[in-house]
Amino acid sequence: MKDFPAFVYYPLQWTWGIIQNVVGLVVYCANSGRTRFRYGRSFGTFWKRMDSMSMGMFIFLAQNLEVCDLEDESSVGSQVAVHEYGHTFQSLALGPFYLPFISAVSGIWCMIPAFQKMRREKGISYYMLYTERWANHLGRRVTKRLPHGYWETHKKVDPEKVPERLKREAEKTNKSELN
Ligand SMILES: [Zn+2]
Repeated sequence: MKDFPAFVYYPLQWTWGIIQNVVGLVVYCANSGRTRFRYGRSFGTFWKRMDSMSMGMFIFLAQNLEVCDLEDESSVGSQVAVHEYGHTFQSLALGPFYLPFISAVSGIWCMIPAFQKMRREKGISYYMLYTERWANHLGRRVTKRLPHGYWETHKKVDPEKVPERLKREAEKTNKSELN
């Protein structure tokens, strides 16, 4: 996987983004007994929880994803890793603003029962919120792989981008139906 330059990634994480990286390192060390892995530039573990999260350059994947091949784009584990890896670039971009504007916001969006109920009842994707959508965008750009929940937020087809050939075929089909 072609990746983001290491000489930019690590120095920025440990200066501009140091707060969340110290927190991430503590959580990473606290999970020392768990299986570790590298994903792109990030350091990860499959922790003893059923949810996944990222903190600075550290990513923590749900324990049930340990069976997945993280290099296989079609596996849920790979897709969640792409998403969490995307969050690590938000840490790079936002530095000290990462905790209040990404971690806190997505934590509230994820865990508050009122939001869970709203998503369930109105069929709103978890990935609609800017923190999650942006993480997917960044993860996809860097890894060129599919992030988790991508199709929940990318259903619309832009008519401008439909190739001419397909438009002509659609027209023909409509005409033959009329005849
Ligand atoms: Zn997320």
